Parts: sequence; structure tokens; C-alpha cells
Amino acid sequence: MTHYYDMELCNYHDGAFDYNNWNCPLLTIGWLEKGKNYTKGSNFPFDLRDRIAFLRFAFSEKFPSILFRGYHECSLCKLDINHDATLYHSHVNLFVPDEKNVYVIPGRVDHYIEEHNYQIPNEVIKAIMNCPDPRTDDFKNLVKKVNNNSSSPLY
Ligand SMILES: [Zn+2]
Repeated sequence: MTHYYDMELCNYHDGAFDYNNWNCPLLTIGWLEKGKNYTKGSNFPFDLRDRIAFLRFAFSEKFPSILFRGYHECSLCKLDINHDATLYHSHVNLFVPDEKNVYVIPGRVDHYIEEHNYQIPNEVIKAIMNCPDPRTDDFKNLVKKVNNNSSSPLY
């Protein structure tokens, strides 16, 4: 995985992963890599983990075209050779809208939160908790609205 700091414009790949194809900011959240600084903290609502797991499942079902091939290994875990660094289901990425932006979030961001004390920004916690089921029209309509009422690479 490529490293990004939080709130950078995403140009990881073509299609939905390239901010040039969106009419709103497409911002990276939780693209952590060994040797790069990230914000640490402990503000995690108890149900955030379940919400991330649900969204991971729903995104993989609804948008198979944005799945990566294979699982990513956590480079922070790889510092410990006795630790299995494979992140299961890490081929999924979440596209989570708020009022102005769409956040691209690795599907296993919960691992960074739980194992590496990553502090995901408060406004992104809010967006994740409020994100409609990606399989519904509510989600489709919200993405369209945030994307300046235009179609996005997701649809
Ligand atoms: Zn790790």
C-alpha cells in the first residue's frame, strides 16, 4: 500500500481512486505505513469497530470493481517478526462521504485504531457512523449530492 497522510488528495489509482475523477475533494484517511508519523489518541466510540466491519462487508458486496487483489500486510506489525502481519479483508476500501468530502479509508483501519493507537479524525468518525448502507439509494444520493450533484466514478 502507498502511504498518504490524513486529508491528502487521493491519486492512488485510476477510476474511483483518483481525485481528478471527482467533483469534490477525495481525501485519504488511515493510509498508515511504517516510518511515517500519524496522530495517536484514544477517542473511539465503542461501536465504531462494528460500523467499519459492516461497511467493509457492504462495500465489497456492492462495489466489487474497487477491491484490491490480495490482502495487505500491516507494515507496522511487520516490525515484529513473530507477528502475522496479514490484514484479512484488507482488499476492501471504504468511500465515506460527509457534507463536503469523500474519504478513502482502508477497510482494515480498525486494525490501526486498535493495535497502533491511530486516532482517526473526529469528523471522519462521525462520517463513518452516519454513512448510509452503501447498497442503498440513500448512499447513492448522498454521494451524488456531495459530488456537486454529479455522477461519480462509483456509479
Ligand atoms: Zn499492525
